[in-house]
Amino acid sequence: MRIFVVNCGSSSLKYQLIDMEKEKVIAKGLVERIGIAGSVLTHQPNNGEKVVIEEDMPTHKEALKNVIDALVDKNYGVIKSMDEISAVGHRVVHAGEKFAYSVVINDEVMNALKECIDLAPLHNPPNILGIEACKELMPNVQMVGVFDTAFHQSMLPYAYIYALPYEYYTEYGVRRYGFHGTSHKYVAERAASILGKDLKELKIVTCHLGNGASITAVKDGKSIDTSMGFTPLEGLVMGTRCGDIDPAICGFLMENEKIDIDGLNNILNKKSGVLGISGISSDFRDIETASKEGNKRASLALEVFAHNVRKYIGAYAAVMGGVDAVVFTAGLGENSSSMRASICNGLEFLGLVIDEDKNNIRGEEAIISTDDSKAKILLIPTNEELMIAKDTEALIK
Ligand code: AMP
Repeated sequence: MRIFVVNCGSSSLKYQLIDMEKEKVIAKGLVERIGIAGSVLTHQPNNGEKVVIEEDMPTHKEALKNVIDALVDKNYGVIKSMDEISAVGHRVVHAGEKFAYSVVINDEVMNALKECIDLAPLHNPPNILGIEACKELMPNVQMVGVFDTAFHQSMLPYAYIYALPYEYYTEYGVRRYGFHGTSHKYVAERAASILGKDLKELKIVTCHLGNGASITAVKDGKSIDTSMGFTPLEGLVMGTRCGDIDPAICGFLMENEKIDIDGLNNILNKKSGVLGISGISSDFRDIETASKEGNKRASLALEVFAHNVRKYIGAYAAVMGGVDAVVFTAGLGENSSSMRASICNGLEFLGLVIDEDKNNIRGEEAIISTDDSKAKILLIPTNEELMIAKDTEALIK
């Protein structure tokens, strides 16, 4: 069975075609600058050279049409016709409280996703455009929606209710939703499998540390708390996002910097995080280099980040009544041995002891705690596309 996985952003479309028997990517690619001059599709078949197609793509429909043409192309295509595709799995960012699991997309689901636009005005509209384009160009193929928020729908009210007037929850849906759910679920399942244990018997803290970063307490296979909240701004310090701050800072800055709400949102989302602290970059590689060269603000940014993640690991061990495993994933979590070591430094009291040699690794599944560490520390590369494809396969079967 072949599953086509689609992830649409406002001006981009990422895709993978996955052979489910072998769990192998047959082709993948990216369309950039949809609706902007200079649209470009970069298509990568697994058995050939990268192909770059530059052509006007005013909407997601033209982008998808080019992707389909590339997939079936005589020279660099990987399938003869789109009939070889069994289903499409769509990544959708926000399903509010409507879906706790992935679903086959029908009219009712489309309406529900449209109702969630207020909650994710930047993300849901392009996700919906992507689904509509696929439905138009592949009318006989089943579509499945896989939601970033779904895995966290298992949180109980005491974990998701903010201490605001309760009406804001009932009227506007202001509550913690959590994001990166597909990634947290994937690495938690892989951790159980690597440890040879039943996921339902484990207390796992999953740390998704990329440009966007979030951390989840997974108990008995369910998300019971997570650091991102109503939006992906809350929680950990990120590349450019501030994470947790005193909410009173918002009014203070608006007054003193003479900025409106858009100006404030821009600062909190795009100018903060490790970029804001270091003044150098949002990319941890640049900050690690600057820190090694003696830049004090770069070192401070790394310390603040590690301290923050460490604090959450302790908090989540507390809410779960212990911790059996901590998992590191995503760009930084998978690649930076120094950041993993720095985060774990001081967590020995929880039975988490990192092994310097085993931690000297990047981008591959491994247990990186010492053999006698009571709780295990794991590195697991995330694979949201495979998770989306697996959910899609399960639903259409
Ligand atoms: P992601 O959002 O998961 O793609 O992660 C992207 C981030 O991972 C980048 O912004 C970098 O900060 C970080 N990253 C990727 N590779 C490395 C590396 N070798 N060392 C440190 N950080 C890295």
